[in-house]
Order: sequence, then structure tokens, then C-alpha cells
Amino acid sequence: MSEKALYQEIGLVNTRKMFEVAMKGKFAIPAYNFNNMEQLQAIVNGCVASDSPFILQVSSGARKYADQTLLRWMAQGAVEMIKAQGTPLKFALHLDHGDTFELCKSCIETGFSSVMIDGSHHPYDKNVEETRKVVEYAHKYDVTVEGELGVLAGIEDDVVAAKSIYTQPDQVVDFVKKTGVDSLAISIGTSHGAYKFKAAQCTRNAQGILEPPPLRFDILEEIEKRIPGFPIVLHGASSVVQKYVDMINKFGGKMEDAVGIPEAQLRKAATSAVCKINIDSDGRLAMTGAIRKAFAENPKEFDPRKYLGPARDELKSLIIDKNKNVLGSAGHGKEIFA
Ligand SMILES: [Zn+2]
Repeated sequence: MSEKALYQEIGLVNTRKMFEVAMKGKFAIPAYNFNNMEQLQAIVNGCVASDSPFILQVSSGARKYADQTLLRWMAQGAVEMIKAQGTPLKFALHLDHGDTFELCKSCIETGFSSVMIDGSHHPYDKNVEETRKVVEYAHKYDVTVEGELGVLAGIEDDVVAAKSIYTQPDQVVDFVKKTGVDSLAISIGTSHGAYKFKAAQCTRNAQGILEPPPLRFDILEEIEKRIPGFPIVLHGASSVVQKYVDMINKFGGKMEDAVGIPEAQLRKAATSAVCKINIDSDGRLAMTGAIRKAFAENPKEFDPRKYLGPARDELKSLIIDKNKNVLGSAGHGKEIFA
């Protein structure tokens, strides 16, 4: 590191220390996406309430929806809001699925403390080249970089892939060495969105709910053996919480056969070298369920605060639950930042 980065002046942190503590403590840092104020408040207040370190993520869809400049200043507002509450908690502002060097560079220049360069759709050598270029630039400012090897199926904003390709353990050592990345997103059967798997890929449990094929822990173990102690990231790790699917359907929605990753499998992954777990769809479901309920129960209401407020409360309680019971990150904030 040669220069003091903007993110440090703002009061953000990169992911290095968080991942170190998560690796030793056998838990994972939650990464939550945001694109509006209510989500941001729920994420921040949920993580403060459960004393959980966290990563705040901005995707390309969020940048288009809310404007990159506004999101960055909202994140700075969140830093000040946390300080005002008198807790030492800090967080990383992370670019989710950066697709070019230029985008990563512009995020670093405007104050992001961590970026993902997703070159997984490129041929291997091109992925290495792009990722390495971002790492060289980012590390000048002590900004941490997440790379990706293997392809996840599903839809998340602009990330669309029909078919997943599992990460090949034989490639990880070479990739990490050549690129210098700080963490690596891998593909072991997670998938973006709320419809992660087709019914034909799943089995039905006694309640008729679809259960997906289990995560490929054998591949994860192989990867851990090749790069011991290296932080691994799981994308597409929402569980599609049944309570919220039911709430949506009860109040006029129509989500059939939505299916996610069972929380027990994520809990198991969090105790391994998996140090970061991305959760977005579950938050969307929680907010949508709460909004549908508010509309159905109060048809005369027209003040957005009367439905966005309950949506925010529901998201906050989801986040506290994830931090405590799935990621295991709750209670580790003071240990990292005090
Ligand atoms: Zn992703």
C-alpha cells in the first residue's frame, strides 16, 4: 500500500481482517446487497443489533436502479449512522460482479473498499489476465479483490447463465498464484435467484416442498486442500425461506416451486474455508411478503412508509436470524473492530 485510500478516510474497511477472524472462528461474513434506503437501514441495524461484521454489496443492477454515486454516499451515511450509535462496528463496501477493469477502478476511486472482478465467463487465461490487472491496481490502495472460477447458474441482475460449471480444483492454485486475489468465489452447486433449480433436478419432501441437489462439499474439500486457509466465497446462497414464499402466495403472489439452498448446508459451509456468503434473494422475498401483507390487510393505506416500514422490519429480522443461525457471524463485531 502506497497511498491512503479514500475508503479509509470514509471509515470503511477492506475484507482482510474480517476473513482472517472468520476463518479462525469457523463462521462466514454475510454479504448483503442494497439498492434503496429501507434495505440499507435493515442491513445496518440488523448487523448492529446482532454485533455482526458485514459486507455491503452493490451490483450492476443496483447501480442502474439507484445511481452509483448515490449508493456510495448512502454507504457513507451508514458509516456515520453506526458511529452515532456508539458501536465500533465497521463494514466493507463491495462491488458485486464487476465485469471490467474500468468499473473496478472507478469504484475504488470513489471509495469502495473491496471489489469483485468476475471474469468467470471468459476463457481461463483471459480471466487470469483481467483479474490480475484489477488486483495490481486495487492493492496499491489496499482494496481487497474477489475473483471467480467456475460458473453459477441462474439470474441475478445482469448475471445470467443457463448452466453451472463447477470450479475445477486443479485450477485454483494456479489462479490464486497468478492473480494475487484475496478471495475466490467458487461454483459448487449454489445458484443465483429464487428459482435456483428446475423441479426435475429436485426431490420433494413430505410437505411437497422442492429440495435441491446437495452442495458439492467434495469439491469444496478438494479446493481447501489445494489452497489451505484461503478465503472462499459462495454466491447464490439464499435459502428461499419458505415462510416468505408462503406469505407472498397467501397475499396474492404466485411463486411456485421457488427453491434455494437449505440453511443447514450453508451453516456447514460457513464452518469451512467459506468466509463470505452472499444473500440477496431472501431479503427480496422478506420485503415482498411484508408489503403484500400490508397491502392486503390495509387496502385504504397509501402512505409508502406504512408498507415500506413493515418490509424494513421484516428484512431486519431476517438479517439477525441469518447472522445468528446460518452464518454464525453474530457476536463477532467487537472482536474484530473494538
Ligand atoms: Zn453473485
